[in-house]
Amino acid sequence: MHYIEPHIHMISRTTDDYHRMAMAGCVACTEPAFWAGYDRPHPEAFADYFEHLTSFERGRAARFSIAHHCWLCINPKEAEDVAFSREVIQIVRQFIDRPGVVGIGEIGFNKNSRNELTILEEQVALAVELNQLILVHTPHMEDKLKGTRLTLDVLDAHGVSPDRAMIDHMEEHTTRLVRDRGYWVGMTIYPDTKFTPQRAVDTIETLAGDRLWINSSADWAYSDPLLLPQTRFEMQRRGHTEAMIQKVLYDNPLQFLSQSGKFKVTVT
Ligand SMILES: [Zn+2]
Repeated sequence: MHYIEPHIHMISRTTDDYHRMAMAGCVACTEPAFWAGYDRPHPEAFADYFEHLTSFERGRAARFSIAHHCWLCINPKEAEDVAFSREVIQIVRQFIDRPGVVGIGEIGFNKNSRNELTILEEQVALAVELNQLILVHTPHMEDKLKGTRLTLDVLDAHGVSPDRAMIDHMEEHTTRLVRDRGYWVGMTIYPDTKFTPQRAVDTIETLAGDRLWINSSADWAYSDPLLLPQTRFEMQRRGHTEAMIQKVLYDNPLQFLSQSGKFKVTVT
């Protein structure tokens, strides 16, 4: 069965990972802009990063018939420097019309700080101005529930349609808030932190599989690009129908991402 990996940082992964993902059924992925593991020294470094995401990764994925897409932004961890961030936002504008760019993300909070809020507001305004989808990162270390609530308040205040924003890295205690306010729920499956495949399937069942996606968020940290096939296996083990499994792993991300007008997947 085909699946879409909607949140993965392939710049940090090997070509072998593309191969293994393709063998497991992956036909498309989207790669949000994120923190490189160090603070970039100059705003211009983001131009190099966006060039890489919109050219090299697309070609590397295409070798394995995976349609690569990306999201652009200044990530929350580097958004503490407001002047620096504003320069990056100008670079985002230069790249936003490139093929395969599906929206603004992953934006949000890292420490729930005032400067992060300022830059989140400006990037949400940018997405509204440019009619872009939004992918939200919610904090891991600090108060996830508080960061999620603050983010939803910003999205509401800017008139973002809840259909067009994915709130990612949700856990059991935050999904209800996001669902009640009409937004999409993203769930990340990790080997040690965040969701295990078992916990993810518990929550998928609670939400009846509606308006949600799952992802591996595999990056340079301890993570696993094959956790979506493992979650599919867990759904099969519990007796979920093929239609339900396809809804979670393919139909839902396709429905959300197709709103960008630039998400293309060719399944042969
Ligand atoms: Zn990420």
